[in-house]
Amino acid sequence: MKVKEQLLTLNAYVPGKTSEEVKKEYGLDKIVKLASNENPYGCSPTVLEAITKIPTFAIYPDGAASELREYVAKHLGVEENQLIFSSGLDELIQMISRAILAPGSNTVMAQNTFPQYRHHAVIENAEVREVPLKAGCHDLNEMQNRMDENTKIVWICNPNNPTGTYVNKEELERFLANISKQVLVVLDEAYYEYVTAQDYPQTIPLLDQFENLLILRTFSKAYGLAAFRIGYGIGSASLIKQLEVARLPFNTSALAQTAGIAALHDPEFVEESIIRNANELEKYYRFFDENNISYYPSQGNFVFVNIPGKTPQEVFQYLLEKGWIVRAFPNGVRITIGTEQENDELIKLLEKIT
Ligand SMILES: *Cc1c(COP(=O)(O)O)cnc(C)c1O
Repeated sequence: MKVKEQLLTLNAYVPGKTSEEVKKEYGLDKIVKLASNENPYGCSPTVLEAITKIPTFAIYPDGAASELREYVAKHLGVEENQLIFSSGLDELIQMISRAILAPGSNTVMAQNTFPQYRHHAVIENAEVREVPLKAGCHDLNEMQNRMDENTKIVWICNPNNPTGTYVNKEELERFLANISKQVLVVLDEAYYEYVTAQDYPQTIPLLDQFENLLILRTFSKAYGLAAFRIGYGIGSASLIKQLEVARLPFNTSALAQTAGIAALHDPEFVEESIIRNANELEKYYRFFDENNISYYPSQGNFVFVNIPGKTPQEVFQYLLEKGWIVRAFPNGVRITIGTEQENDELIKLLEKIT
């Protein structure tokens, strides 16, 4: 028995250590996990109430997610047939790759970005063309240079995970105008709600002009619903219709659909989370500036930093042993912005090694 050869070059997703594992290993009684960009304030209480009211678990969910679709369409000001729902964006990235990529085709993405784009391209045996970030940002000029007649998808993570940097409106519009309309441009806007930059592109209006655009949004981050697995794509009705063929019949659960609807009924919860996140980011920036710690200003709920004289792995290990889980990358550490108290405590710990 053999799997496809290209799978042998990949690893199954390795989740970070669980809090229980870390507790045991280091004899700790409190763990703070700031590693996966979840909402530190949880989710809206309206969600907790709504999910207790599902009448039965014995029947399949609504495969079309009709009610959620209606609310999301209204929320965004798009037509219902411009939406495709998925079990988190992870699944949508898989669906897009499965529907579009094949041997002989290639796909262009940044080198230090969300890893699932590359993962699924490799499974589909498409060529992956990774373009290094320039000062932490997508290098759209170089990405355009790397495209050819076999390029099927370009992935733009905006804001970018893990750096928190963003492509502005002008850069994005120039790129879209310059490239072939045969290429699908996927804009992963998982952190859309957190963005505060004035020149961040509002991409839904661009759909009228560019049929080759697909925007990804999720309930996992600012809405605080990561456990439910619910996200969606926004595109032209004709593109969505084609992608729907690659979607599993009941890919989003009744719980997830109900949670999404309830979350949309409480915009104040998200607004509050966003304001607190922005304030806390400022607090980190002040600390970094005062201590010569380099970082990228972030449009997300996380920040990418380098502590002078310490490798990212050393910083990770130091924090881990004290019960703080962050994420180490080869060129920096990504810290999810926690609650006010969590951030104060983390800053105190970082002070000791700077
Ligand atoms: C978290 C994240 C996702 C995946 O989110 P889910 O909807 O939970 O699958 C996709 N893209 C980026 C950039 C992310 O950070």
